[in-house]
Amino acid sequence: MAQKKVVVLPGDDEAPQTVYAAMEVMRALEVDLEFIEFPTGESWVRGETEKTVRAAIDASDSTLFGSTSGKTGGIGYLRWGRKTYANVRPCRYMKGFKSPLANPEGIDFVIVRENLEDLYLGLEGPLSTLAPLHLSSRVLRAELDTAERGIYAIKVITERNTRNIAHFACKLAIRRKAEGHPGKVTCTSKYNMLRESDGLFRQIVEEVVTGYPGLKYEQFIIDDFARRVVQSSHDLDVVVMPNLYGDIMSDAAAGTIGGLGVAPSGCYGDDYAYFESVHGTAPDIKGMGIINPTATMLSAVMMLDYLGLREKSKRFENAIRKVYAAKKQLTADQGGNARTADFTEAVIANL
Ligand code: ATP
Repeated sequence: MAQKKVVVLPGDDEAPQTVYAAMEVMRALEVDLEFIEFPTGESWVRGETEKTVRAAIDASDSTLFGSTSGKTGGIGYLRWGRKTYANVRPCRYMKGFKSPLANPEGIDFVIVRENLEDLYLGLEGPLSTLAPLHLSSRVLRAELDTAERGIYAIKVITERNTRNIAHFACKLAIRRKAEGHPGKVTCTSKYNMLRESDGLFRQIVEEVVTGYPGLKYEQFIIDDFARRVVQSSHDLDVVVMPNLYGDIMSDAAAGTIGGLGVAPSGCYGDDYAYFESVHGTAPDIKGMGIINPTATMLSAVMMLDYLGLREKSKRFENAIRKVYAAKKQLTADQGGNARTADFTEAVIANL
């Protein structure tokens, strides 16, 4: 079988240090992958590098992405170009993570965030352009005053994309059930207020989940869900939600187990997936050598799984688990004083 190819986009500010750390571990693991590595955003030539990157992405099996503050391009192509509609954000506590909760042991659920639509189409404009439409709100039972100075933003929920993400969540819940999880899909959105858009999302998800006989289904309004993430997240398994709520709630969820330094993510489409941490580029700690690479390492673990390198991914994950359990080489965000390089070395030593 031909060797699989992975594009590596280190990203901007301090994010590349986490990507380089993950690469070091994968090299130590001797993973059978060809890496096509691009420079950081600083030396990115707009247009030109982007063209090369797109071609490389198209010729690859996956991408490992460091976060971008705008200098590194390609993310739009990875997401919308490759239609990676399911953003999977696991929230799994490991012994040694610096959680603010009294009892974080056993927290293990996955947020499946819709990745392509909702408010993230970026369609905004002056209210006055809506005047010819004579829009009225069903909830407020009043016409929109387009003479007011202001801006609208368009939120789009399509039946097709919602169906895709719902099936994705169900298949994930079935795989998890085989590993001992409850086999439950939770849907959350603001369906009581946004009855048409979030209402459609809720309706489609429920319809899809009930077509999977082995799965349980529950739904919560997003504000209620926010409380549950803090108070009773041990009860969650797979949670599916629209884009904006997923963006916000996955940061909150990360906060309950130990923060952004330990929160991985993967974005999956039907024929491609890329992997990146939940966190951004951490510009405030740029050049300090203290960024926690765990989130990117765990994203790389997800990538190895996706590429079918299960034995390597298990070894990688277990090594990270051991470093946290030992609590000796932890970075500052986890209450330790190890540097990025020390942590990475400790993971490699535990492979
Ligand atoms: P974005 O808008 O791209 O999400 P941001 O600046 O809002 O970026 P982050 O870059 O995620 O957010 O950083 C938020 C805070 O968390 C910063 O103080 C940053 O230093 C810290 N942080 C983020 N990731 C890590 C990490 N891996 N290790 C340690 N601290 C981190």
